[in-house]
Amino acid sequence: MMSTSLARGNWSGMTPPGPALYDAVLLDRDGTLIEDVPYNGDPDKVRPMPGAREALDRLRAAGLRLAVVTNQSGLARGCFTERQMRAVHARVEELLGPFDDWQICPHDDTDGCRCRKPAPGLVHAAARTLGTTPARCVLIGDIGRDMAAALAAGATGVLVPTPVTRPEEIDEAPAVARDLPAAVDEILRRMRAVRPAAPRADRPGTVLVVRSDSAGDVLVTGPGIRAVAAGADRVVLLCGPRGRAAAELLPGIDDIIEWPLPWIDGNPPPVDPDDIHRLTHRLHRTHADEAVIFTSYHQSPLPLALLLRLAGITRIAAISDDYPGSLLDIRHHVPPGTPEPERALSLAAAAGYTLTPDDQPRLRLRDDRLPPVPAAAGEPGYVVLHPGSSVETRACPPELATRIVRVLSAAGYRVVVTGGPDERELTDRVAAAGGVDLGGRTGLGELAAVIARAGALVVGNTGPAHLAAALGVPVVSLFAPTVPFGQWGPYRVPTVRLGDAGAPCRDTRAVRCPVPGHPCLSAVEPGRVLEALRLLGVPAGVAEPVLVGPAAAHGGGGVR
Ligand SMILES: [Zn+2]
Repeated sequence: MMSTSLARGNWSGMTPPGPALYDAVLLDRDGTLIEDVPYNGDPDKVRPMPGAREALDRLRAAGLRLAVVTNQSGLARGCFTERQMRAVHARVEELLGPFDDWQICPHDDTDGCRCRKPAPGLVHAAARTLGTTPARCVLIGDIGRDMAAALAAGATGVLVPTPVTRPEEIDEAPAVARDLPAAVDEILRRMRAVRPAAPRADRPGTVLVVRSDSAGDVLVTGPGIRAVAAGADRVVLLCGPRGRAAAELLPGIDDIIEWPLPWIDGNPPPVDPDDIHRLTHRLHRTHADEAVIFTSYHQSPLPLALLLRLAGITRIAAISDDYPGSLLDIRHHVPPGTPEPERALSLAAAAGYTLTPDDQPRLRLRDDRLPPVPAAAGEPGYVVLHPGSSVETRACPPELATRIVRVLSAAGYRVVVTGGPDERELTDRVAAAGGVDLGGRTGLGELAAVIARAGALVVGNTGPAHLAAALGVPVVSLFAPTVPFGQWGPYRVPTVRLGDAGAPCRDTRAVRCPVPGHPCLSAVEPGRVLEALRLLGVPAGVAEPVLVGPAAAHGGGGVR
């Protein structure tokens, strides 16, 4: 692998516009940076992992700050002294180069501190010291605790398994790389992918952007749409009926065309020649100079590209593995597993667009479009449980939802149960266990307003999870593994993932569970949701203090 510089492309000394995807990379110590020698207090036993020095130097060359985040319970257990640990860390820096920060948890599991991974305290502390936020950090580590800490802080996680990493930890990880150099390759690839290789000479008038399918699909495309809006005079979105309400909430859109596309939508209508003619004519009347067609994996942009050609649009960009002939001017490729918002940003970048420097690569909503919260929701600080989904496999099983409400309300949480008009029976049943039933009383806008005032959202892999991500509200994600978590999980928001990530439905994209009883989610113990809320620092009720352990005041920092 060559030495990587972000100044690749034709920027010739100019800094590429738009924010970088990451500011900092946080690294676990034992098993990630150096070989794991249990409770080592001897600098002579420090052995770097293969390729570590060169990989870290590539991150430094790319302008990323580096920090170590490490559990050292050997301190609490008296296996080595702080002085010995400092000598080990001096040796690590001698071999691997300098780190901008070291964050160490000196506690044991029994201390109940907020810094020992999987708690997110070390990630918060490192981000703060480095002058950034967890969402702008990646954490590389070799076990599930590292990934859980990254997710609970809203950071990106990359797992580099060793022989001691358990298979279920590999299944659960948002991203997996073969080793540290490969993890660095992936981080730098993602960073390059969201920035145009060369500046555009022109500024187009109207650009047509397209994202069919459901609310969640439209929400995760938001950053890509904002990037296009930053470089064009006017943006028109073509979306389907199920994505319309989400489109209304997105910044950067000047006009919306709502039209079902029979080659995208689930339960599609038959192709009607008159309807296709009307759509083509409508697209022509946008007077768009160009189009960017956003799709998800396994959706083809090519039928629409043909209509756009017939409508006179001359420059068309899309992701297509299939040969497009003369239908596309920019044919983009994205490796599987890339988070959907970055997939959209990378297509926008391939078309020459990037976010403005003050716009973060995260999901956002227009808060001026949020309607008032229904009074029945009560004071802010409740936990929202949204049990349903348009896709059965991605919903929370009703029995589990009921038990979650019971357990949370017994622990002092106020639970608000939400659902669409067709889910009233479900929400009524679930809320009867001790929650407030808002089923059928929220459109997407009201639902966003309700979630905005929540301490956390408990939800399957469905649209409201992306609303929470856009509002910065922590998510307890009951995530069936039918699609990759790293691609579809809540983006850049504190999250705990629950459910069996290695279940037989993994990567099947099944819409009905192929295994009787939906075991990947129905086997989740409701008590895990309670633990998740505590890990996320979400208190029960408004007036009560945040539950923290006796050692929280240490914050994990300071010891070096
Ligand atoms: Zn600690």
